[in-house]
Amino acid sequence: MAAELYDVTIIGAGPAGLNAALVLGRSRRRVLLLDGGPPRNARTTAAHSVFTRDHSPPMTLKRLALTDLERYPVDVRQAEATAVMVVGECFDVRLSDGQLVRSRKLLLASGLRDLLPDIPGFRDGWGRTVLHCPYCDAWEHQQQRLAVYGTGDAAHHMALTLRLWSDEVTLLTGGPSGFSREQCRDLARLGVQVRELPVTRLAGTPLCITLDSGEQLVVDALFYSPAQEQRSPLPARLGCRLTANGRVEVDDHGLTSVPGIYAAGDMTPSPQYVMNAAASGVTAGIAINTALVHQERVAQGANFHKAGA
Ligand SMILES: Cc1cc2nc3c(=O)[nH]c(=O)nc-3n(C[C@H](O)[C@H](O)[C@H](O)COP(=O)(O)OP(=O)(O)OC[C@H]3O[C@@H](n4cnc5c(N)ncnc54)[C@H](O)[C@@H]3O)c2cc1C
Repeated sequence: MAAELYDVTIIGAGPAGLNAALVLGRSRRRVLLLDGGPPRNARTTAAHSVFTRDHSPPMTLKRLALTDLERYPVDVRQAEATAVMVVGECFDVRLSDGQLVRSRKLLLASGLRDLLPDIPGFRDGWGRTVLHCPYCDAWEHQQQRLAVYGTGDAAHHMALTLRLWSDEVTLLTGGPSGFSREQCRDLARLGVQVRELPVTRLAGTPLCITLDSGEQLVVDALFYSPAQEQRSPLPARLGCRLTANGRVEVDDHGLTSVPGIYAAGDMTPSPQYVMNAAASGVTAGIAINTALVHQERVAQGANFHKAGA
């Protein structure tokens, strides 16, 4: 039996969950925010393109957000949600510390996991010398030696885009590129060298990239756009409808396909940036409060009706 009743349980204390907690706390809702660990960008030294906080370390952003929550009725627990049971219109959430909590609404803000290639040194460089997004990190590497790892339209696009920041861009496809003649022409016109050999190892700063032939290429940063999966199995277990690429489908207000369950941040089809995640937390927070207000009005109406009867 769940001991505590919250208005909302938020699973995940990244930018999306933290900002939703702020909106809901300020709406005088009893909120439980489950903090299962560091945000997705924890490996990087600074988050960029963040309104008024450009260049702040991700854990500084998190600390500031948690401080903001202190004045509101938000309980923050360092725990993971391990299971969720739907009980009538409520949700019982099992925590990793064994406790069971009940809430009237549920917000999933548990983010995504980046799937990195199994190349020695790749994971060590992630967020430092191996980067995923020019808008997050290219400014810091302008006119430096850059490489892109990947194939297909996304890698082609990434290489061309990075030419805005540097004249020295090499595209490592790790095997036959499969680029069309037009794509090869685009790359050649902008002076992007294409290397089709497998990459066998990454090491050090600057980054030494070893190719299958034994040849080594030294760059200041390697850009790679990873495949991703949901960080938590809960959305799938709860039956939330997923998009073709595994994001949780939501409507314009963050409501998933399951009544009473909302989702925000990277785990939805939203663009994957701190500001977008935080903004979608606001949207979902307001939608949840609106749904609760509606539910309470209906309940009050029923009570008035009963009292008058
Ligand atoms: C290396 C790197 C650098 C980046 N740099 C930038 C940048 O400079 N600027 C920018 O705008 N964006 C950047 N991003 C993207 C940014 O990190 C994400 O868009 C943002 O963190 C998404 O926020 P979120 O709240 O949706 O998810 P996350 O930040 O992933 O947070 C989800 C949280 O949920 C928690 N969680 C998961 N499962 C559970 C569970 N079962 N119970 C409890 N908690 C759970 C996780 O521990 C995590 O804390 C970067 C990403 C990476 C990988």
